[in-house]
Amino acid sequence: MPHNLKLYFSFFIFPFLIPGIHSTLFAQAAETKYVMVIHGGAGTILKSSMSAEKEKAYTEALTLALQQGYTLLKAGKTSLDAVEAAIRVLEDSPLFNAGKGSVFTHDGRNELDASIMNGKTLEAGAVAGVTTVRNPISAARAVMEKSQHVMMAGPGAEQFAKEAGIEMVDASYFKTRERWEALQKAIRDDSLKNKPDQGNKKPAKAGVINKDNKFGTVGAVALDHAGNLAAGTSTGGMTNKKYGRIGDSPVIGAGTYANNATAGISCTGWGEFYIRCVVAHDISALMEYKGLSVEQATQTVLDKVSKLGGDGGIIALDKNGHAAMPFNTAGMYRGTVSSEGKIEIMIYR
Ligand code: ASP
Repeated sequence: MPHNLKLYFSFFIFPFLIPGIHSTLFAQAAETKYVMVIHGGAGTILKSSMSAEKEKAYTEALTLALQQGYTLLKAGKTSLDAVEAAIRVLEDSPLFNAGKGSVFTHDGRNELDASIMNGKTLEAGAVAGVTTVRNPISAARAVMEKSQHVMMAGPGAEQFAKEAGIEMVDASYFKTRERWEALQKAIRDDSLKNKPDQGNKKPAKAGVINKDNKFGTVGAVALDHAGNLAAGTSTGGMTNKKYGRIGDSPVIGAGTYANNATAGISCTGWGEFYIRCVVAHDISALMEYKGLSVEQATQTVLDKVSKLGGDGGIIALDKNGHAAMPFNTAGMYRGTVSSEGKIEIMIYR
């Protein structure tokens, strides 16, 4: 065989004669690259207890969030713009435990937390315990871009947001009947558990949180045309949380992290465990120091959370557009959009 023909045979024809090589080549060519992933919270989300209308409403809201993010990315905007826009859609929807529709604290208030991080510069911003900022994710971004700080809390964060031109609302804007009823039920369940005739000698603890008292925190990770990653998370926290309690969502390194060298990460779940496991940064560190893939790193850290007794999920997107979305609950509202604009929404396991 002439030399040229031999080369042609080995590069172009020979691989197709071996099914294994053929399918590997084909798989590589067809590999989906994602530009954005989002979540709308993890928990006991079962198909058996979900109505068709509710499923449709969640699917539509998640789709809209991805569409908004994708439109911005396609127009050449940054991953930060896409993350903020997608999260604002979910904050404005009463279906999710973020912005309008946030859960209630033990004393019947809505205290909201959010954070955002720029994977290119490692700049970050967060607000915690805000009660009058319509879109906490935008306030978190303002902290990152317009202050010298990373995290601001309570009335000070609100004053700062107002001065930064962020839309403010009356605290009653966040209230929904469904979340109010969830609080009443959580309080009832706690008082039953703490009744003296149940053998409990300890006095009742106010604001006890139970693992099913959280649903619908939202988060997004995006990768833009310049190869920059960004991640953000927004939540009302956990139903019946004690006044002043702050979860993982606004804690950089716990609920949110982004680093162009590794991945963008947003978490949802029982925040106390996510803080103790420093989940988001641990994932990035495993990728950076140990060379783990985004799938391996997210699963490794979620396993640590599970071992301690925590539950929830994680979404992550690496610098090459590989996504991972593991969770250890029955379901997690989640969605992806590929570089071609193909949107996929998933809810159950
Ligand atoms: N991680 C949130 C928190 O603990 C709750 C959630 O994700 O559902 O505040």
